[in-house]
Amino acid sequence: MPFFLTTAIDYVNSRPHLGTAYEKITADVIARHCRLCGIETYFMMGNDEHSQNVYKKAVEQGLDPLAYCDQMEREFRAVWRELDISFDDFIRTTEPRHRAAVQTLAQRSYDAGDIYEGIYEGWYCVSCEAFKQEKDLVGSRCELHPTLTPEWIREKNYFFRLSKYRDRILRHFEAHPEFLEPHPRRNEILRLLEAGLEDISVSRAGQLWGIPLPFAQDNVVYVWFDALINYAAAAGYATDEAKFAKWWPAGLHIVGKDITRFHTVFWPAMLMSAGLPLPKQVFGHGWVNYGGQRMSKSLGTSVDPTDVARRFGPDPLRLYLTKEISYGGDGDFTWERYEERYNVDLANNLGNLVSRAAAMAEKYRDSHVMPAGDGGRLAQVADAAVGRYRAAMKSYALHEAAAAAFQIVDAANEYIAETAPWTLARNASSADRLSAVLFDVVEAIRVAAVLLMPVIPSSSAEILRRVGERRPPSELRFDHDARWRADGERQIIKGAALWPRSDERAKEITVEEKPPSGASPSAAPAITRPVETPTPAAPSPASPDGRIPIDDFMKVELRVAKVLEAEAVPKSKKLIKLKVDVGTEQRTIVAGIAEAYQPEQLVGRTIVIVANLKPAKLMGIESNGMVLAASPEGGLPSLVAVDPNLPAGSRVR
Ligand SMILES: [Zn+2]
Repeated sequence: MPFFLTTAIDYVNSRPHLGTAYEKITADVIARHCRLCGIETYFMMGNDEHSQNVYKKAVEQGLDPLAYCDQMEREFRAVWRELDISFDDFIRTTEPRHRAAVQTLAQRSYDAGDIYEGIYEGWYCVSCEAFKQEKDLVGSRCELHPTLTPEWIREKNYFFRLSKYRDRILRHFEAHPEFLEPHPRRNEILRLLEAGLEDISVSRAGQLWGIPLPFAQDNVVYVWFDALINYAAAAGYATDEAKFAKWWPAGLHIVGKDITRFHTVFWPAMLMSAGLPLPKQVFGHGWVNYGGQRMSKSLGTSVDPTDVARRFGPDPLRLYLTKEISYGGDGDFTWERYEERYNVDLANNLGNLVSRAAAMAEKYRDSHVMPAGDGGRLAQVADAAVGRYRAAMKSYALHEAAAAAFQIVDAANEYIAETAPWTLARNASSADRLSAVLFDVVEAIRVAAVLLMPVIPSSSAEILRRVGERRPPSELRFDHDARWRADGERQIIKGAALWPRSDERAKEITVEEKPPSGASPSAAPAITRPVETPTPAAPSPASPDGRIPIDDFMKVELRVAKVLEAEAVPKSKKLIKLKVDVGTEQRTIVAGIAEAYQPEQLVGRTIVIVANLKPAKLMGIESNGMVLAASPEGGLPSLVAVDPNLPAGSRVR
């Protein structure tokens, strides 16, 4: 049966933060899992543009609101691309298909007698774009926006008869216990319904930015009434009957816990009024906090998901958010914890397993492994884990599903330790046993990688390629491929480490300049810098002989700096944390020179730094700049020296 999956659409008054990304990543895991199961899936997300906040933001920037929204759409899409979100459709509420759906639904509701004229007087939180009742306010402020004063407004509005639908919605909840997950959210909404519902305002008077009510053109549809209809609009309501018949009702709306009320009370009532079937399920996920605090731009606790994705690539972030947060509950992100999980799950565990298996297959079997047994205990562990994974995915316990895949990885690592293939290899009589062990390890990796396809898609595809899978990932199917198979030879491909440990990544790589012809290579100057991403930035176009114009060089701001403090970075062999004076300010720089210098040797030294590098986090420390050192082939780095009497901040060129 076709499955229509949506996330909430996002306000475009600011870029997505890590919490927004969390929703899209987890929805993407579900969408990819459905496709892996062979279910025809339509995964939809989009932007919510008819907000007064968006209008204000555009005016502030001197832009036409639509031009502003166009620009934000590009930014949002770029973030989603970077996080490997595989949406099939992206709706914007300024699109004609959405406008048609909103006007049709509003008209049908009006014709049904559910929309009437009245006066609204009360509190309004501009940031929520929501009317607030006295009881919703905490100390006369909106609970979610304690720094803003709600506005008291009085205006002629159109109202929707929400109260009329209370009993039907209650009955729907009773008849469909799965309608709202996870369970605690359901209880909240039931209490709300039991307390009774008041009619809600569905229009705003005297505003230009929005969709006019078809029966009262000088009023625009209130942004929440407008926004909810996006799901039906994307499915083809009012514009494409055949499409709508195929995809509606939605199989699952994924939304934040703060807006489940809109999706399980207002939205069902609107659909009932318009004579449309209700979505099958709404899942209210929790929040991702930053170091225990609610993520908020104004509080400075917001994390840009692209900063995180650029640290180790998108897949480690996807794994962290899926596996470390119980889906439905709140979770926490800190850079330290993120780095720790990266090292534990990916560098030391899965990545190491893939490397060891390929190395042993190459060394002992010329990279060809053949089944030579029934898989034994490892096959049983894998089958049980697949069963747990399947059950967990069914109830959207995404964290348990990811953990089940890692149980196979753990078991395979233990199996290598127990069977000690290097010992088996010493004795010709254990050749068959060695073949069986190698095949079993490779097969365990394959099964784990299939299970992880929805979570870490590009890494799983690479792992599958390395363990002999020749079909493209889109052709794999859960029923067939996510089970133990002892069927024929596998050719193993060795490759670079998938996830080098974070301290290994942080160690300095040397970007050697081409030595001028005739000069000895050891005399070549070199620039060293710590890297935070596996892919070096694309070099700017240079002439065929590798020379660059002076303008390119002048972009690099080299300055003299004085070392004020120096200390070793714990748990790192290479890194030293420096506090330096650059004339106008003091800043922290992490340098990979610990093998060549003791911290106390550095204090007081005059060094040269690159002052205009983007900050990078190394072992959890933000480094603002880079120290210049010469790095001879195979030798230790040597700091570039200048006259110690030069004032800090002097430009070097
Ligand atoms: Zn608010």
